[in-house]
Amino acid sequence: MIKLGTGVLTSGIGQLDTVRITAICSQIANLRSRGTEVIVVSSGAVGLGMGSLGLKIRPSLLAQNQACAGVGQSLLMQTWQNGFEPHKSTVAQVLLTHEDVRGRARHLAVKATLEALLGFGIIPIVNENDTVSAAEIQFGDNDTLSAMLASLVHADYLLILSTAPGLIDMEGTGEIVPVVSRITAKIEAMAGGTTSITAVGGMISKISAARIATKGGCGVFIASGAEEDVIPRIFSGRNPGTFFVPSGLPMDARKHWLTFFQRPKGSIQINAKAVPALRSRGSSLLAVGVTGCSGTFASGDIIDICDPDGTVVGRGKSTFASDDIPRIAGLNTPALQKLFPKRRRLEVLHRNDLVLI
Ligand code: GLU
Repeated sequence: MIKLGTGVLTSGIGQLDTVRITAICSQIANLRSRGTEVIVVSSGAVGLGMGSLGLKIRPSLLAQNQACAGVGQSLLMQTWQNGFEPHKSTVAQVLLTHEDVRGRARHLAVKATLEALLGFGIIPIVNENDTVSAAEIQFGDNDTLSAMLASLVHADYLLILSTAPGLIDMEGTGEIVPVVSRITAKIEAMAGGTTSITAVGGMISKISAARIATKGGCGVFIASGAEEDVIPRIFSGRNPGTFFVPSGLPMDARKHWLTFFQRPKGSIQINAKAVPALRSRGSSLLAVGVTGCSGTFASGDIIDICDPDGTVVGRGKSTFASDDIPRIAGLNTPALQKLFPKRRRLEVLHRNDLVLI
């Protein structure tokens, strides 16, 4: 899976960098001729649309952004089609919203379609369906989209190629960190937001994408798309950027879906004692460890679990609705049984339905 940022495909606002795109197409064609299946996640629709409409700054109105994407997306596909033509490769446009991968049935349908396209020898060119993705169904950035798709199709590698050369250790050496074997708080602190006018991701979203993909068993490279022959360099072990090592045991597909494809409706706060019980004993979350909640959620909704400092330590399906939490917080099981004599499940989050982050 190769994700290309707006800054790699364009020069200035909305000007296609055809020389670079031609080079990238031939690197991808080369990879495919050696038997590697490739899915491209391409940004650039909004940026190209801005150029076409003569806009110098990203419109603040969502509808105007969506209009830019509508104009830019067709230019983007034309560009990819032209770029792959000399290599006799066919491309397919795949536009997705967050909704399309959130529901289990559509999630599997997207997977089947991508697999069918690859089976036909086609290069899927994926982008967020910006023209229809209002805030609540938005991925927001293609880093997240590419990581979710990489896990969905069980990609071996995800290459995030942007204007960023890799993860830079600003506090320490000032150089690119070559390998990250685990995404710790220190690694997260090295990332900063985006500063570009047309881009939306930045290093923070790349690190969170790397977290999603590596947990799904996919190795992630973050490197500069401007680097000459960046794709063959990566595949011949001369990665100029940062490599994120996939987790040894990929998360079970259902738990991965639960953790990374859902939008939590709220959160439950737990006390300090409950944290090690969840972490080292693999217990379910019991009411006795709960101190409160925020947001409005129903029984069966996905929520975050926060430690006393407010750090998210896990995510899962809540057995109880947010309305019930204040009266069950801190209760032991016999007291809870008295309150809900007919309920079979009294764990606030059953361990089969929760994932620690
Ligand atoms: N979907 C957006 C576009 O095509 C880009 C989002 C991103 O770069 O992360 O312009």
